[in-house]
Amino acid sequence: MSTVLVIGAGGVSSVCVHKMAMNAEIFSDIHLASRTKSKCDAIAASVKDRTGQDVATYSIDAEEVPAMVNLIRKVQPSLVVNLALPYQDLPIMDACLEAGVNYLDTANYEPKDEAKFEYKWQWAYHDRFKEAGLMALLGSGFDPGVTSVFTMWLKKHKLKTIRQLDILDCNGGDHGQHFATNFNPEINIREVTAPARHWENGEWVETPAMQVRTEFDFEAVGKKNAYLMYHEELESLAKFVPELERARFWMTFGDAYITHLTVLQNVGMTSIEPIRYQGKEIIPLQFLAAVLPKPETLGETTKGNTNIGVIATGEALDGSGEKTFYIKNICSHEKAYEETGNQAVSYTTGVPAMIGSALMVTGKWSGEGVFNMEQMDPDPFMDMLNSDGLPWTVEELDGPVDF
Ligand code: NDP
Repeated sequence: MSTVLVIGAGGVSSVCVHKMAMNAEIFSDIHLASRTKSKCDAIAASVKDRTGQDVATYSIDAEEVPAMVNLIRKVQPSLVVNLALPYQDLPIMDACLEAGVNYLDTANYEPKDEAKFEYKWQWAYHDRFKEAGLMALLGSGFDPGVTSVFTMWLKKHKLKTIRQLDILDCNGGDHGQHFATNFNPEINIREVTAPARHWENGEWVETPAMQVRTEFDFEAVGKKNAYLMYHEELESLAKFVPELERARFWMTFGDAYITHLTVLQNVGMTSIEPIRYQGKEIIPLQFLAAVLPKPETLGETTKGNTNIGVIATGEALDGSGEKTFYIKNICSHEKAYEETGNQAVSYTTGVPAMIGSALMVTGKWSGEGVFNMEQMDPDPFMDMLNSDGLPWTVEELDGPVDF
C-alpha cells in the first residue's frame, strides 16, 4: 500500500496511471500533477471509468522547485514518478532531495538549448541521493528500460559475457497520418536528427544521422528498414556491461517518414536555434511540434504491432561456447488502446514505468543513490512484464547477426 505522485499527463503518463490503478493493492493512493490540469482530469476520468479507482489531480510547473517541494510535502508520496519531459529531470530530482522522497523517470536529462542527452548530469546526483538515504531510478521505460533489463536477464540466465549487442526497435503501426511522431514530437525529432553513435572496441563511433541502415524481418510486422541511431541506454550498457565489444541501436522508419523529416530539416523546421518571428522569439522545432498531431490523439487510429528486442552474442553460461539469443516483446496498438486508451508506444513505456515504480515502493528494488536499470535484479521486472501486459519471448539464433 503506497502513495505515488506522477508528474506529466501525456500518453506515457496516461498508460502508467491506468496500470497503477489496475494494481491498486500496490498503488493505493495515486496523485497526478502536470502543467495542464485538464489533461490530468481527463486521465483521472478515464481511470475511474475503466477501473473504479480515484486519482487526485493538480496543476504544477515541475521546473518551479519550491512549488514541487510544496506539492510533494502536501501529498507525502513514497515515490515521485517523472513522466514529464527530460528537461524537467533535474528540477524534479532537486525537489525530491529537498522533500526527502524517492524518484523514478523514463528518459535522461537533456538541456533545452543542446540536443545532447547524457547521464552525466543525473549521475552527478548520486552522492546527494546516497547521503539522503534516497533512491533515484533512471530510465524505467522500454528503451531505455526494458532493453536494459532484457540484456541483464540474458547475462544472468544465458550468457556469462556479452560480446556483441544489437537493440532492434520496430514500430510497425500505421496511424493514418502523413507525418506524426509516436511520443513527444520535440524530443523524438531531436533524437532522430542527432548523429548516430555506437559503441565499438571501447569507444564511441559517430556516423551521420539516418545513413547506416539494414533490412530486418520483424515477427508480427514484416520486413522493415532499420536505421543506426544513438540511444541513451547504450551509455549505461557500455558502463555496466564493460566486456561489450560492440553495442548498436536500430530503429525502423518508413520511407514517407524519412522524406517528411528530410524536407523539414532542409527548410530549417527542426532547428532548436531561436529565431525572431513577428517580434517574438520562437524555436522552429517547438513550433513544428505544436502543429503536428499530439501523440495521445493517435491511439484510436493506430493499427499494427511494435516489436522491440535485443540480440546478444557471447560466452554461454553453461560453458557450451559462443551463443546468440534474441529476446523481445511484441505489442499490439489496438489492444493497448482498448485497455488504456493509448497506442503501443505510450503503452510500452508506461507499463515499465509502473513496474519500476511497483518494485521500488514494495522494496523489491532498493538502494541509496542514483541507479540505472542495469544495476537491478532483472527477474522481478521480467515477471511483471509477463503479468502486466508486455509478455516476452527468448530464442536461440543460429549465430551472431551479420548486419
Ligand atoms: P507528452 O509530450 O505526451 O507529455 C509530456 C507531459 O509533460 C505533458 O502532459 C506536459 O504538459 C508535461 N510537462 C511538460 N513540461 C512540464 C513542466 N514544466 N511541468 C509539468 N509538466 C510538464 O510526452 P510522452 O508522454 O510521449 O513522453 C513522456 C516522457 O516519456 C518523455 O520524457 C519521453 O522522452 C519519455 N519516453 C521514454 C521512452 C522510453 O522507452 N524510455 C519512450 C517514449 C517516451 P503539457 O501538456 O501542459 O505540455
